[in-house]
Amino acid sequence: MSVLIFAENWDGKFKKSTYEAISYGAELAKQAGGSVTAVVVGNVSDEDMKALGKYGAQKVLSVKNDKLNAMNPSAYASAIAQASQKESAKIIVISYTYSGRSVAGRVAVRMKAGLVAGATALPSSTSPFTIRKKCFSGKGLTDVVVSSDVKVVGLTPNSYKVNTADGSASIESFTPTFSDADFASTSKETKKTSGKIPLTEADIVVSAGRGLKGPENWGMVEQLAELLGAATACSKPVADVGWRPHHEHVGQTGITIGPNLYIAIGISGAIQHLAGVSSSKVIVVINNDKEAPFFKAANYGICGDAFEVVPKLIEEVKKFKSAH
Ligand SMILES: Cc1cc2nc3c(=O)[nH]c(=O)nc-3n(C[C@H](O)[C@H](O)[C@H](O)COP(=O)(O)OP(=O)(O)OC[C@H]3O[C@@H](n4cnc5c(N)ncnc54)[C@H](O)[C@@H]3O)c2cc1C
Repeated sequence: MSVLIFAENWDGKFKKSTYEAISYGAELAKQAGGSVTAVVVGNVSDEDMKALGKYGAQKVLSVKNDKLNAMNPSAYASAIAQASQKESAKIIVISYTYSGRSVAGRVAVRMKAGLVAGATALPSSTSPFTIRKKCFSGKGLTDVVVSSDVKVVGLTPNSYKVNTADGSASIESFTPTFSDADFASTSKETKKTSGKIPLTEADIVVSAGRGLKGPENWGMVEQLAELLGAATACSKPVADVGWRPHHEHVGQTGITIGPNLYIAIGISGAIQHLAGVSSSKVIVVINNDKEAPFFKAANYGICGDAFEVVPKLIEEVKKFKSAH
């Protein structure tokens, strides 16, 4: 069963979630017995495309078109669907990033395929094709059975490890045919928040909530994040009142993340917040209320005043870093 993986890139560079998707797709192909092809849309160097072989891609279909340098979900979906037809792929893997989400459903419609929206594991069975995913805002798990001939798997970032081995992928230029409808809407401008680690990519996230009392107190959160090489996040009310930008808001109505370490400072741990962070591998909670619900979800808890605990933590991290 041949597998096609959408190898998403950002400004010509692949990120960890792309390598996870390829590692996952390669393992799937091993289970189901078939070839592994990655499709790359946009300007990525030949060297970087060949390097996808290290993660298990045997071949790369390279789609280069000036109109596709910025993400366009309809046109990207059209290119991926045509690539899957060309390869007779029965499984299409797309990392379920923000962009991936906008593409995966469209690909599924074009291919008349069932979609697993946010898979967290390899299939438990290939016949019937059954994959586990989260449901009810991460409070439950469900096993999705996909019975269509072609299947689309949207893989939750950070839910599958990156596998590497020796290998180099061959590159083939691919020119899909686009219709005017594929470009019915286009983005005019993309503004990037520069110099910051993207939340969905971060291994460590330092997050804070209303317990911090005001935006003027975020200096210590940013300092701790910088020392740990972490991204910063916040609870919804904090973004709603403008203490922090909306792109930092995590939870049911914000971004869903699954870092290796999530440090929550002055956040109560409401169910809607947990919905976005409960996939974190290790959760550390700092809260001055020992009854705060977040402690129940925490691996480690510090019951104390954030304004005392966080500066001490910063000092300890500094000491640790200078000693190692
Ligand atoms: C439909 C819906 C969707 C929602 N979506 C989201 C979402 O996506 N994300 C989200 O975050 N919320 C969401 N919410 C809101 C959610 O229900 C909570 O209201 C919100 O998460 C609370 O934010 P908070 O923990 O920062 O603030 P609070 O609930 O006010 O908690 C502040 C915490 O800080 C602690 N604290 C106070 N002072 C200190 C101190 N000095 N040191 C240490 N700790 C201190 C307090 O003990 C308390 O636990 C949603 C709500 C609804 C109804």
